[in-house]
Amino acid sequence: MTRRHRWPYYATRGDVRGWCGHRHRTLQGAVSCLCSDRGGCRAQGGYSDRAIVRVTGSGPGEYEYVDLDIRSRRMWVECGPDQPAM
Ligand SMILES: [Zn+2]
Repeated sequence: MTRRHRWPYYATRGDVRGWCGHRHRTLQGAVSCLCSDRGGCRAQGGYSDRAIVRVTGSGPGEYEYVDLDIRSRRMWVECGPDQPAM
């Protein structure tokens, strides 16, 4: 029986919006996902409370919030400054 490598991966989550449900292999992929979620929320007059996390295992608490690197921070800024405090 082989054990597939499944972690870590990136995802986005928020207390209100919940998990995006993806397993992003790259931080940039997660930023892109977050941007589209924010775009969808903005269209409805709200904002997304999701942030990017790095999932390290299958347990409920096995994730950590990640700092954006320079490249993903630029993507973040380009997709709109409507997120309060990050
Ligand atoms: Zn996603």
